[in-house]
Amino acid sequence: MNPVRVVVVGGGFAAVQFAKTLRSKLRASECDILLFSRENHMVFHPLLADVAGASINADAAAAPLRQMLPGVECRTERVQRIDLSSSEIEFDDGNGALTRLHYDHVVVACGAESNLGIIPGMTDHAFAFKVMRDAIELRQQIVRQMESAEAATDPSLRRWHLSFIIVGAGFSGVEVAGEINELVRSSTRFYRNFRKEDVIVSLVHSQDQILPEVAPKLREFARKKMEKAGITMLLNTRAVAATHEGVELNDKRMLAGATVVCTIGTAISPIVQALDVPKERGRIRTTPEMRIEGQTNAWAIGDCAYIINAFDNKPAAPTGQFAERQGRQAALNVVRILKAEPTQPFRFKALGQLCSIGGYQAVAEMLGVHISGFVAWLLWRGVYLFKLPTWSRRIKVGLDWSWDVLFPRDLSFLNTDTTQQATHAYYRPGDFIHRQGELARVFSIIEEGQVEVLQNSPTADTKVVAVLGQGDFFGEGALLGNRPHETSIRARSAVRLRQVGSALFSQIASSFTPFRELLVRAVTRGSGDFWRRLPISKAMLEGESIASFLDPLPAQLLTKETTFADAINALNESPTGTLLVLDEKQRLWGTLDRGDLYQIIARIAVTSAETRGDITHLKLSDLLIPNSIYVALEDSALVASAAMLDHAITWLPVVKSKADPRPVGLIRGEKISKRMIERMAQSQPPRAQVAS
Ligand SMILES: Cc1cc2nc3c(=O)[nH]c(=O)nc-3n(C[C@H](O)[C@H](O)[C@H](O)COP(=O)(O)OP(=O)(O)OC[C@H]3O[C@@H](n4cnc5c(N)ncnc54)[C@H](O)[C@@H]3O)c2cc1C
Repeated sequence: MNPVRVVVVGGGFAAVQFAKTLRSKLRASECDILLFSRENHMVFHPLLADVAGASINADAAAAPLRQMLPGVECRTERVQRIDLSSSEIEFDDGNGALTRLHYDHVVVACGAESNLGIIPGMTDHAFAFKVMRDAIELRQQIVRQMESAEAATDPSLRRWHLSFIIVGAGFSGVEVAGEINELVRSSTRFYRNFRKEDVIVSLVHSQDQILPEVAPKLREFARKKMEKAGITMLLNTRAVAATHEGVELNDKRMLAGATVVCTIGTAISPIVQALDVPKERGRIRTTPEMRIEGQTNAWAIGDCAYIINAFDNKPAAPTGQFAERQGRQAALNVVRILKAEPTQPFRFKALGQLCSIGGYQAVAEMLGVHISGFVAWLLWRGVYLFKLPTWSRRIKVGLDWSWDVLFPRDLSFLNTDTTQQATHAYYRPGDFIHRQGELARVFSIIEEGQVEVLQNSPTADTKVVAVLGQGDFFGEGALLGNRPHETSIRARSAVRLRQVGSALFSQIASSFTPFRELLVRAVTRGSGDFWRRLPISKAMLEGESIASFLDPLPAQLLTKETTFADAINALNESPTGTLLVLDEKQRLWGTLDRGDLYQIIARIAVTSAETRGDITHLKLSDLLIPNSIYVALEDSALVASAAMLDHAITWLPVVKSKADPRPVGLIRGEKISKRMIERMAQSQPPRAQVAS
């Protein structure tokens, strides 16, 4: 008889324990076990904070799957889809081809993903803390910031480099805050320009207590010890945005810091999202024995599963402890099924909680006993040393830890060249992206929001001279000309940018001719060049308010929910052919004119009939690109003219103010041009009389 084929998707606590238990119970002639994981190693998450804090090496916290699981076929391939109806998985074979494989039983153990997208700007400016790469990059960042602080001559800049913000005070937040604090403070003796007192480590937490999972007495102990070690606790405080400067808090304060670590926010893995099975807040619902509800040969375990624990009839916690037990008990249930024996429900009494808080201190709750301080720390290290998957790893980590007690932590780091990178950046309204006179470091493309271009004049204050919106770019002039910025750029609304480092920009611009030509055209066209040739008009428009050109709002205002058919009718009835689209709060969301209509139709034409459905019922929110460019009543007519010149458009919506983007009217290019010509005629000196 052919051996039964069991496919495991995942390479974490649950998957490894499942495969190990199953292999120990069934011979290779009875069962083939194939384990698919994106990485070829298992990450031991409880030690990630130690990797970030340089107290152990990264390889000690990552165990190679094939060495841990003899007798299991380990494949470093990402599973793309599980087809429960045909009992097949589809995976990427690493050469760009999708391969299908039949299984007799499949075990979904793909964990959860980190999701920084829950707070604006976190994806762009914060470090996640979930996979090994996060811990390694964070360690590099911490040491890089110490080097930058050493080089900084401005005390406030030095302070910024030495400020570390950790969002979330659950286990991982507390552990990583403790490790960062320990690494930076214990290393200050190797630097000349800063001392321990200059270091700021802040822990931001939305609740009134850190470590909500542990007993109140232990939490209190942890808080006091961490505060004594110099960590600032910001409790009952939420991070609402992250920017290049730091973190904005819900009380409007800006917490400055060069390093932000976000330990909150999880997302369901895409493969689980795609499974059409019963779920609870995204996690796969299982029967008590851990089979996926409604399935006979598909199982779900670990963080991706919603399993009721028969011990207390509560959902099992998403922790390593539970994942391991689920792996073991699910494997035993598969064996029972193959032997036609009855299965057993998942039942587990948690052994306790352990959390290291830095400075050789920890809190522990083991089998109902509460321990804190140095003894708890020794227990923490002992338990995790014992829990490590192989003896070689235990010895490695044990040696690293002993080294850490006796010798200073390693401060070497690889200096990555940021000028070669392409990154994202998020700015809040009012933040400066760069200032006039600064050296150009990046080329920026606006992905969302608007920025304003400001220029200092020797005689007057800084003035807004143009606005740029989605799809526009800036920084190219200074980079191409190898000179400082001639204008400042400030975020007008919340802005998300794609930024390309100067070296990478030069490489693309020099090797890709169409891109270079586009940039050169951008530098020489547009409002900047126009005003250089017409300085009198510029001065005139600077003094003119937008209100004096204001046309009333169109009679009919559309919403995001307006259907395509209704929008066409409204355009036909509009005398000017220009309409505004509002969001649910009556703020300007987009604009629509006849030109947009043709573009929408062209876009619809290239989608298949099944995908697009009945086009007349499509809503504007599905068809239009939002965040069109607009000006505010407080802007000058110069800004409106510049925006129209830069975008080759003839009209613009006008909103109440930058902070309140509800539309109040329209401004048209022809009206501005007419006024300009009238003023120029008035200011012309009278022609000299020619004697006849
Ligand atoms: C920083 C940190 C500290 C923690 N500390 C503790 C602690 O002290 N104690 C504790 O009990 N718990 C702790 N946890 C929680 C614990 O790590 C998780 O609960 C546990 O890892 C869940 O195990 P899992 O097997 O379900 O998922 P994971 O361990 O996350 O493993 C999921 C695996 O699936 C793989 N995968 C995902 N999608 C695919 C795909 N499509 N194809 C192939 N492979 C895929 C991934 O690569 C990964 O190997 C911590 C977590 C973190 C992030």
